[in-house]
Amino acid sequence: MAEQHDHHHGHDHAHDHDHDHGHEDGGVPRVVGEGPDLSKGTARPITVVGNPVLHREVRTVTAFDGELSALIDDMFQSMYAAEGVGLAANQIGVDLKVFVYDCPDDEGVRHVGHVVNPVLEELPAGRRALDDSQEGCLSVPTAYQELARPDYAAVTGQDKDGNPIRVEGTGFFARCLQHETDHLYGYLYIDRLSKRDRKDALRQMADGTPKYATVPND
Ligand SMILES: [Zn+2]
Repeated sequence: MAEQHDHHHGHDHAHDHDHDHGHEDGGVPRVVGEGPDLSKGTARPITVVGNPVLHREVRTVTAFDGELSALIDDMFQSMYAAEGVGLAANQIGVDLKVFVYDCPDDEGVRHVGHVVNPVLEELPAGRRALDDSQEGCLSVPTAYQELARPDYAAVTGQDKDGNPIRVEGTGFFARCLQHETDHLYGYLYIDRLSKRDRKDALRQMADGTPKYATVPND
């Protein structure tokens, strides 16, 4: 998912990039999860709407090996190079179900991590409040649109060693979890927009110039 620069409303999603794992006065952790070792990995160019790898369900990960770890390192590097807050493997052209994130929620807590083979949990009754903030995607560069999504999400999956994990979040981070899981099943956020808003997003993309390397579609 793309970081919102000047289109967001409500809370300010701008977040610092320090690596303080301490706690604020209220006892609320400022960072949940563990950041990557940034001495590893290489940023790769980002695939954009129209590339077939973004429009089909990608493969389930079955090998929890060094290659998967190296892929996750590359994904973090690629996400940071493009200033995103989440990245799915098919956004760097890899046909595997993995996403990474470094994303704030609406309480200012920064969430960092990865999920292999994510599955979005069904929402419990009573947790279906919608949030209609702006959303963007590194694979639809320079475009933003409002999109209503549940303001809570939980994803189950595995870590890079194959251990079962569950990640939940609210607000902007809930949006990120839904957006990245969608990618791995072949859906972009613009597929969830009205025809008119989708067209407008594609026009914004055509008019803009991404600040990061992309994979040409031709
Ligand atoms: Zn995206």
